Amino acid sequence: MPVDYPISSVPHLRSQNITLLGATGSVGLNTLDVITRHPERYRVFALSGMTQLELLTELCVIHRPFYAVVAHAKDARAVQNTLLASGSDTLVLYGERGLETIAAHPQVDTVVSAIVGSAGLKPTLAAVNAGKKILLANKEALVMSGAIFMEAVGRSGAILLPIDSEHNAVFQCLPAGRDRALAESGIRRIVLTASGGPFRETPLSALNDVTPDQACAHPKWSMGRKISVDSASMMNKGLELIEACWLFGATSDQVEVVIHPQSVIHSLVDYVDGSMLAQLGYPDMRTPISHALAWPERIDSGVKPLDLCDVARLDFEPPDEIRFPCLALARQAAKSGGTAPAILNAANEVAVAAFLSQRIRFTQIAEVISAVLDEMPVGAADELDVVLVADSNARSLALQWLDERGK
Ligand code: NAD
Ligand code: MG
Repeated sequence: MPVDYPISSVPHLRSQNITLLGATGSVGLNTLDVITRHPERYRVFALSGMTQLELLTELCVIHRPFYAVVAHAKDARAVQNTLLASGSDTLVLYGERGLETIAAHPQVDTVVSAIVGSAGLKPTLAAVNAGKKILLANKEALVMSGAIFMEAVGRSGAILLPIDSEHNAVFQCLPAGRDRALAESGIRRIVLTASGGPFRETPLSALNDVTPDQACAHPKWSMGRKISVDSASMMNKGLELIEACWLFGATSDQVEVVIHPQSVIHSLVDYVDGSMLAQLGYPDMRTPISHALAWPERIDSGVKPLDLCDVARLDFEPPDEIRFPCLALARQAAKSGGTAPAILNAANEVAVAAFLSQRIRFTQIAEVISAVLDEMPVGAADELDVVLVADSNARSLALQWLDERGK
């Protein structure tokens, strides 16, 4: 006899309302690409963007969200007027309050957290506190406030799914429904893969003079400029190490990093019986995004099937911490715990912005971060205000370093 399911219990028969924080960015546009392929499953509820307002307006005309959020009141007025003139009934909000509104709105099912940097923290926490399903790309939020973030996830019942490709790969390789410590699940370690970025083989002496455009020319991934510089310095892998510790309840010693230039294996889980599980695919963010959007189902992402004979070989090498000092700094911050990762992250955000505006050299990014970490005391990070003060103090110190030592 056929079973009579209520329609709402069959996931793909009720379309999910999606809020997309950071819609105009690389992750945001990849998410919209996937959503567009499945109009019966997903409805764009709200979009946000800080710059590229023409693009945001265009996205609103195409996807007809209920809300759009921009940074400032004057931008909101301008975008609202253009939208009204084009017959769109999207309501435009602005600022932190606007972001928190669309992240926690009662009609929203899923929030894609794809703002870059610390600006993503408060709206992502608002989504967590409202118990949403959250697709997390904004690793900086978790790095800054991991303890607060994970405690809020536990309390609110939010579902946190990583779309950072490495963490999504690990999630796919872990036992389903795991709620025990790694060791109790027979897991020895998590292995995060890294492409090595554009400077993996650049002579060390030449790193002093590399330009922002060279740093942003990633060999495998097309991404925003901040994460591209982080990939070139391997701070991205350092932030991901901290992200993995929080997401999977690992210690920093249980997370290893290996360079894998082909970027086909996105990460691995090593079990005590000698099995190592890996997730493979072409480097395309639509795979982790589709996986998390549809989880626990699977949907087409638009990514072509992996042709193993075309890939032909997979290489691995250990990361060189002389070439990539940022990785060692991040590991040190992970070990210190407390506010150290927030300090590391803030100093890195200031240093990367300074490098992108050609105020400092590439090699000075690690110098700024190291100096700030050395100077600032580390405290417990169980209150948001404490984290935000540490973030702000670290930024001030980094800016002071730039004034005194930059270039
Ligand atoms: P991006 O620079 O392309 O886009 C960033 C988005 O955030 C844009 O929509 C921008 O308008 C918005 N934004 C920037 N500053 C803001 C602010 N102060 N307030 C509100 N909105 C703001 O960045 P991206 O490459 O899409 O990366 C987004 C996040 O996802 C980052 O945390 C990054 O580390 C992470 N991530 C990206 C990729 C990738 O392939 N691009 C992969 C894994 C993780
Ligand atoms: Mg990643």
